[in-house]
Amino acid sequence: MQILDLNRSFASIRSEVDAAMKRIFDTQSFVLGSEVSNFERHCENYLELPENSAVGCASGTDALLLALMAADIHEGDEVITTPFTFFATAGTIARLGARPVFADIDLDTYNISLDDVRAKITSRTKAVIPVHLFGQMVALEKISAELKSQGIRLIEDSAQAFGSVRYVGGEITRAGTVGDIGCYSFFPTKNLGGCGDGGMVVSRDPEVAGRLRKLRVHGSGKTYFHDEIGINSRLDAIQAAILDIKLKHLDEWNAQRRKISDYYKLLFATHGLQDYVKVPVEESGNVHIYHQYAIRVKDRRDDLMQYLEQRGIPTRVYYPLSLHLQPCFAYLGYRAGDFPKSEQLTREILALPVYPGLENSEQDTIVKAISDFYKS
Ligand SMILES: *Cc1c(COP(=O)(O)O)cnc(C)c1O
Repeated sequence: MQILDLNRSFASIRSEVDAAMKRIFDTQSFVLGSEVSNFERHCENYLELPENSAVGCASGTDALLLALMAADIHEGDEVITTPFTFFATAGTIARLGARPVFADIDLDTYNISLDDVRAKITSRTKAVIPVHLFGQMVALEKISAELKSQGIRLIEDSAQAFGSVRYVGGEITRAGTVGDIGCYSFFPTKNLGGCGDGGMVVSRDPEVAGRLRKLRVHGSGKTYFHDEIGINSRLDAIQAAILDIKLKHLDEWNAQRRKISDYYKLLFATHGLQDYVKVPVEESGNVHIYHQYAIRVKDRRDDLMQYLEQRGIPTRVYYPLSLHLQPCFAYLGYRAGDFPKSEQLTREILALPVYPGLENSEQDTIVKAISDFYKS
């Protein structure tokens, strides 16, 4: 068993991918170009965004960096985000000389607490970056108008949530399209993943989208003429072609992840493990796409991991150290205890295998082993 077995979903698209690769090598056109613009248009359709609002780039990290650049984040500005996320969310803020300001999380959803965001806003706050962690959306409708009225940009880190939706008053909202700018990653392990690095940044505002499009090619609108200083962050044709093929299967694959999650929930209940294991909570209105199926383990998490490893069951800890305690952020002056919920979660969280093609029988084995660990 693997923590993630990409071969199981790849089998169904292999011939389509082979044909796309032949097409690209026949043309020898590898960076940006029609493969990328086709994929961008298909993403706009999928995400119900206006034309030209999607800008492919080199990674999810670059998507965040480009978003912050387009939001005019500079030295001395404060950007509020969660300490319980992948490093890039905060790393890109610091990279621009701005200050990452953390807000604690909610222990049910593992997502940033909107109340704590409100508490952390100062006159220097220029943006907020909520992360739709593990594939579940933050209820942004509860704060977006408030942020807008204060001139604070809302940048969504949707790296783990392409395809995740939330119903708000009967209307569907899509991860990455609610705020001012949305950022996606196509790293191979994400729900929509390529065969290398890739990312996308989107904005409904045509001016912002136009600026993002320039920023990814060194700030140039017309080749060799530079309006501002951008970066080199282009999506390549091979990634775009593969992602375009996978996009057609994404809803079906995400639905499979949800089925796997339902079955885990059933298994944990039937084994009577509720005193030991807390299964992920889906906030009302959300359609969680389970980029990770991460349980909370109250007791002996690391021993459990080792026990499972010995039985051939791989698990992972996302994330073992809250970002406010990372050595590189010592200069921010945070201490242990500043974000008690995030810190608690780093001790309890445990991600189990979840991917299209994972069999019920494998889930039986996993939950049986967890039950054996606690009950025998
Ligand atoms: C993966 C990820 C990123 C970064 O994406 P890359 O494509 O790896 O650069 C950013 N934020 C979150 C929450 C992620 O999971």
